Amino acid sequence: MRFEVKTRGHCDFVDVTEEVSGAIGQTGIVEGAALVFLQGTTAALTVMENESGLMTDIKEALERFAPEQADYRHHARWGDRNGAAHIRSAVIGTDVVLPIKDGAPDLGTWQRVMLIDFDERPRQRAVTVTAWSSGSGRT
Ligand code: ZN
Repeated sequence: MRFEVKTRGHCDFVDVTEEVSGAIGQTGIVEGAALVFLQGTTAALTVMENESGLMTDIKEALERFAPEQADYRHHARWGDRNGAAHIRSAVIGTDVVLPIKDGAPDLGTWQRVMLIDFDERPRQRAVTVTAWSSGSGRT
């Protein structure tokens, strides 16, 4: 399974929980696990609350950790300006693994799957969902 998402960059948060749930539902797997994987090196996937204050907090924390406007060796090598985006992506990661229960991701009440795009320009992101059954399901 695979879906695509349009992003704006510069720490753009996109809630992809519905897309992930839909992809898991299409597999027909009832009990198991799903690997959700973002194909990119300047964005990240994580599980968090979809709350605007938290998003601003994370954006500010990442700006202190790896400022967008700082100079990075990557810029000299590639001629682009997204060194901060690569660092943030590498540290947060580009994958999450979710338990599947009753054919759906077994998330906590406030947990959402969030794609965060750090690049310096709008992008179209591809996310793959690979699910497997624990053996107790119907597939
Ligand atoms: Zn780059």
